[in-house]
Amino acid sequence: MIDFHCHLDLYNDPKLAVEDADRAGIYVLSVTTTPKAWRRTLALAQGRKRIRTALGIHPEIAHERLGELPLFEALASETRYFGEVGLDGGPTVRQYAAQQTQVFEFVLATATKQGGKVLTIHSRRAADEVLQLLRRFPAAGTPVLHWFTGTPAQLRRAVEQGCWFSVGPAMLRSERGSALTALIPRDRILTETDGPFAKVGSRPLQPNDAWSAVEGLAALWKVPLDEVVATLGQNLRRLSGDAGVDAIAIRQPSPSR
Ligand code: MN
Repeated sequence: MIDFHCHLDLYNDPKLAVEDADRAGIYVLSVTTTPKAWRRTLALAQGRKRIRTALGIHPEIAHERLGELPLFEALASETRYFGEVGLDGGPTVRQYAAQQTQVFEFVLATATKQGGKVLTIHSRRAADEVLQLLRRFPAAGTPVLHWFTGTPAQLRRAVEQGCWFSVGPAMLRSERGSALTALIPRDRILTETDGPFAKVGSRPLQPNDAWSAVEGLAALWKVPLDEVVATLGQNLRRLSGDAGVDAIAIRQPSPSR
């Protein structure tokens, strides 16, 4: 099973979240929201062969973190994964659009300089702006749009531009999210939870909840669960080029869940 966008460092008990994910055999992309969080978040993954850590600077706090850009650049060569990065056009942070753009441009320029990264990208209410910036930095690497909430036309454009997508239980539960997911090519999709930000009721999602996205995809595609699991595993191997992925148990959670 795959959770390609999870904030392991932000759970009440990060070590427990890591332990649970590891025991369940889940491949996790552990994303960060600031460069300052990199060290301790990377340390959480120590000795866990299925957890990769991404260096990020979240668009909702980008305006407060301009001073961390040199740190971002200094740490960038330590990982193939950047995230969470991107733009947010929501009412509370729209006023910081210029700073957000400055930060995201910096991230894309750094990725380009280093020869390409895998980027997990936030694009809420800013899909056009994100796609436009990605076009300006075609060698930044492979963009993975996480929890995409744009329009079908924007999604089609993103596909044409080579974007991948990660979809979670919350996206698949909504009618609009399901309709968007149906438009994503099956060889460009991964599962995620966005825990602990994303919740079921009041319970923060855990990496294990990526299984509910697998079930959602099986229902949407009208194929057996095994086929979804196999497709996602192939996608992860292709995207990551990660030799370690072959050793990963890409399987269902244990029935004790
Ligand atoms: Mn997130």
